[in-house]
Amino acid sequence: MRIADILARKQTFSFEIFPPRGDLSVEQATSIATQMAADKPDWISVTFSAGGSGNTGNTARIASRIQRTTSTNALAHLTCLGSTKADVDAYVEALRAGGTQNVLALRGDRAPGREALDFAHADDLVRYLKNKVPDLCVGAACYPEGHVEAASLQADLEYLKAKQDAGADFLVTQLFFDNELFYRFREACVRARIKIPITVGIMPFTSTKQIQRMAFTCGASIPAAVIKRLIAAGDDPADQAKAGIAYACEQLRDLARNGVDGLHIYSMNKPEVAHATRAALEECGYLAH
Ligand code: FAD
Repeated sequence: MRIADILARKQTFSFEIFPPRGDLSVEQATSIATQMAADKPDWISVTFSAGGSGNTGNTARIASRIQRTTSTNALAHLTCLGSTKADVDAYVEALRAGGTQNVLALRGDRAPGREALDFAHADDLVRYLKNKVPDLCVGAACYPEGHVEAASLQADLEYLKAKQDAGADFLVTQLFFDNELFYRFREACVRARIKIPITVGIMPFTSTKQIQRMAFTCGASIPAAVIKRLIAAGDDPADQAKAGIAYACEQLRDLARNGVDGLHIYSMNKPEVAHATRAALEECGYLAH
């Protein structure tokens, strides 16, 4: 099913899996997705070449497995730096052959050897996909704190509007740990005439090391409330993970109370983390029991 059609009738709930550096086989990913599907997400997204691993072939295969073998929908990510139109055509053909109707169109991070070929920015990719395959449902990324390269949040919003104008059907946010940043961003989107649904991405952090890495790679600020939780958790990895899940569930309940279009969980290949968020959202009435 097209994600835009789901968003048109309800608030959504979704998960993410990522095939890291080629060491998650299609079979393992399918097993994770099957466990996650038991929590009835509206879709599961599959990242593309995460961390520049070059592991792109598996994304289409895993998305097709999700689409074909579970009760949920797949959202296949696609980055365009270093890709030609022919590469994109082949990827979309593979997705469609496997029944996947949803793509998250991204530029990808800059890296040596990954230069712009046929696409410089995500809006180029969105436009190309919508022209080429009009019934494809195309999402795009947005950044409540501004993208790390953006000169200002306002400049970033103007480019975000360009993604909407190019035909993007919905947005997924970068992770953040302070909901107030998202509420301010949502108001700024209204002022910038960005009207497509915004699904909110939340990552339950699982360790101090991981949250530090995320802060540096995606520029998410870490509020004092998170630091205090991690200090209280001490050095025990299990306590740190517990603190991260508890914090994310609080964030999710607050977002649910404040009316969002959708909640997307960066579930990091962990069905138990995904499950904990489902339970929190049932408890607060966002999801039915
Ligand atoms: P763009 O929209 O192109 O924006 C990049 C920068 O360029 C911004 O600073 C923006 O302000 C500016 N800009 C945008 N359009 C223009 C324009 N027309 N002219 C000039 N400047 C412009 N990475 C992966 O490798 N694989 C993944 O699977 C993946 N999934 C992601 C999922 C989500 C929800 C998010 C938020 C990010 C994901 N990323 C992924 C990371 C993403 O690739 C990076 O954040 C990347 O640096 C920017 O991608 P973008 O699509 O937002 O790019």
